Amino acid sequence: MRPTAPVRIFTAAAAVHTLAGPDGPRSGAAMAELGTIPHGAVVVDDTGAIAWVGATSDLPASFADAEIIDCTGKTLMPAFVDAHTHLVWGGDRKDELEMRIAGADYERIFATGGGILSSVRQTRAIDDDTLYAQSLVRIERMRRAGTTTFEIKSGYGLELAAELRQLRVARRLGADFRVRTTCLAAHAVPAEARVSAAARAAFIESICAEILPAVARANLADFADVFCDRGAFDVDESRRVLLAARALGLGLRVHANELGATGGAQLAAELGAASADHLLYVGDAERTALREAGVVAILLPGTSLVLGKPYADGRAMVEAGVPVAVATDCNPGSCAFENLAMVLALACYGNRLSPAEAVCAATHNAACSLGLGDRVGSLKPGRRADLLVLDTPDVRDLVYHAGSPLVGQVWQDGLRVA
Ligand SMILES: [Zn+2]
Repeated sequence: MRPTAPVRIFTAAAAVHTLAGPDGPRSGAAMAELGTIPHGAVVVDDTGAIAWVGATSDLPASFADAEIIDCTGKTLMPAFVDAHTHLVWGGDRKDELEMRIAGADYERIFATGGGILSSVRQTRAIDDDTLYAQSLVRIERMRRAGTTTFEIKSGYGLELAAELRQLRVARRLGADFRVRTTCLAAHAVPAEARVSAAARAAFIESICAEILPAVARANLADFADVFCDRGAFDVDESRRVLLAARALGLGLRVHANELGATGGAQLAAELGAASADHLLYVGDAERTALREAGVVAILLPGTSLVLGKPYADGRAMVEAGVPVAVATDCNPGSCAFENLAMVLALACYGNRLSPAEAVCAATHNAACSLGLGDRVGSLKPGRRADLLVLDTPDVRDLVYHAGSPLVGQVWQDGLRVA
């Protein structure tokens, strides 16, 4: 290993929220402990890793040659980690906006040919380069808003070639962004499989026997996910898909309990999934199961806002000791939000997390749900230097002044990217 040298010192910040603490997802009171250093400094080395974190007054003299970035009056924190996105899709569904605002619900829009199947048609119709170009616009906006790590799901192909194409594009984005990919072939039953029970069964069989093995062979996914809910896949179908994925070495994530109490959260716990996501309709039994299985609960309050649905009870989740993360769910229909800082604020107003808990949820806990807790989501020596300089001395302004452009600088691997 070559010796590393300090190249950059972020100094004199009003506060550095390190999120230093135990490895692994945090729960309960620990979610609000941000490892804050007042008047802090962060030193980055020439490999793009963090070399030192501490009080500005304790900066070692040996770092004197490094470039100084004066953070007086500002806040340093880990860059955001968006642990649930569908950001690779073709076209758009802006035509559904008026319907939705006029009161049509998700399931009704879906029944009239809109919804996921509309995005499937638009995504299948374009080639790799067009899909990449459209997705790049979105991910660049997301990074400008402070996110450097992204989970990206497929699920607008729903057949082998188009699922592979979505995941190839996601991997290609991974050359410039920190990306973990998820095969969500079980996102919806495609139109051609809705004609009979046999066609539906054949589609699920094709996911297990054809799509997931091809995805794993080409190393295109880190995780598999299933939309286990009303109108999508039931618990038995979901279990089948997830077991097939697990046998191929993929991690597991579950879209669970968004539309009803349909058993998705319990299934995520039964299979020890990395995350259960949405979780609007859960009670004590589900919360206990998630906690005991160590599943990260990923809340997606932007989707609740757009769809006019209730918010998941994040407060009860924290009090039950379930580790909580927050993500955008960025997707073409139910929430095309790209700004995770804005969604962090919604997690406070909607899911009733405290601002500190929401910061942990959008950084360290999100990273842990992706298996990246030892690389990003906290500011500790050895971690990647993915960090934000906020133009405020108080991190709570992300909530108090929600939506304001407070993310002044975005750094990824020690390089300024926005
Ligand atoms: Zn989703």
